[in-house]
Amino acid sequence: MFGNRITLFKLFGFAVRVDMSWVVLAVLVTWSLAKGRFPSTLNETYPQSYYWLMGAAGAIGLFASIIFHELSHSLVAKQYGLPISGITLFIFGGVAEMEEQPENAKTELLMAAAGPASSVLLGLVFYGVAFFGKYHQWPELITAVIDYLASINIVLAVFNLIPAFPMDGGRILRAALWGWKDNLRWATRIAARAGSVFSVLLIIMGALIVMWGNFIGGFWFIIIGMFIKRAADMSYQQVIMTRALQGEPVGRFMRLNPVTVPPHITIRELIEDYVYRYHYKMFPVVEGERLAGCISTRQVKELPREAWESTPVSAVMEQCSAENCIQQEADATKALARMSQRGVSRLMVVSGDRLLGMVTLKDLLQFLSLKIELEDNER
Ligand SMILES: [Zn+2]
Repeated sequence: MFGNRITLFKLFGFAVRVDMSWVVLAVLVTWSLAKGRFPSTLNETYPQSYYWLMGAAGAIGLFASIIFHELSHSLVAKQYGLPISGITLFIFGGVAEMEEQPENAKTELLMAAAGPASSVLLGLVFYGVAFFGKYHQWPELITAVIDYLASINIVLAVFNLIPAFPMDGGRILRAALWGWKDNLRWATRIAARAGSVFSVLLIIMGALIVMWGNFIGGFWFIIIGMFIKRAADMSYQQVIMTRALQGEPVGRFMRLNPVTVPPHITIRELIEDYVYRYHYKMFPVVEGERLAGCISTRQVKELPREAWESTPVSAVMEQCSAENCIQQEADATKALARMSQRGVSRLMVVSGDRLLGMVTLKDLLQFLSLKIELEDNER
């Protein structure tokens, strides 16, 4: 989902990013405003370029409104000490990227409610400004855009209040259930199931609308339904995994005596004796006791074949980065998050400049499936 995104700017310390899919939405919004809403609602007729400018202003306003919504989530999260890595806007709106789950039902409730509440507030402010503008006879070109922003913020609030986890409404539902029975797993399951049911309803509704003859409108319902379904299933699994791994230090899953590479061997030796033998993409380079660097197939690929025989590993290895290292006492949930973010299956467990061992995705998942199997009756 977050494949091609670019960082735009920082706001209150949160990086605001845009997924390329958002560009599609921006174009669609500008186009439908310029061709549909504005020409049909204005009293007078204007040159076509005016409508396009208004459409662009509407799209930018929508963009700012979504950032405002996500920022409210993030600020409440920050208030409760939950780290938020940034805000990403994609085709259906925005996501405040949480690295950890809230610790209790109240925090979750406040965090989830902050978004829709801020959108309603912003919508009311825009309604107020539009009212003021009409009273003072501002040009209708301007008040029409403000009117649009007022209504779109209310739509944002309502859309996000759909009780389908992980939408805000679903989070509110989960927080309420969680507070009621003090069982996060059960609450998540019910909220995610509500999300699934709701998404199927949306898809059926979309199909009916298509048959009715409104292809584009119906198609949107179907896409949104599929999106909610996928998100609901994924976040349920994520919660189960996080709960099972929370509080388990990485050191517990660590494999001792990992395969390491000495810095003086050649790239050809590395490939013959290590890559083709162990099938790993990355190897730690160890000199004596010290972790000297990391060598991966990526660096080998950049080297011309003729140079394999003569180049030592130490000449092309890179500094090991936070991408492939983790501290021994770090939480296993952190290791799992890092693996999925970076798309790697092994992390080196380090202490200072010493390599202690390796932690692998396979071991983490094996532990998870055992734990979930044994404790599944805990409902
Ligand atoms: Zn929200």
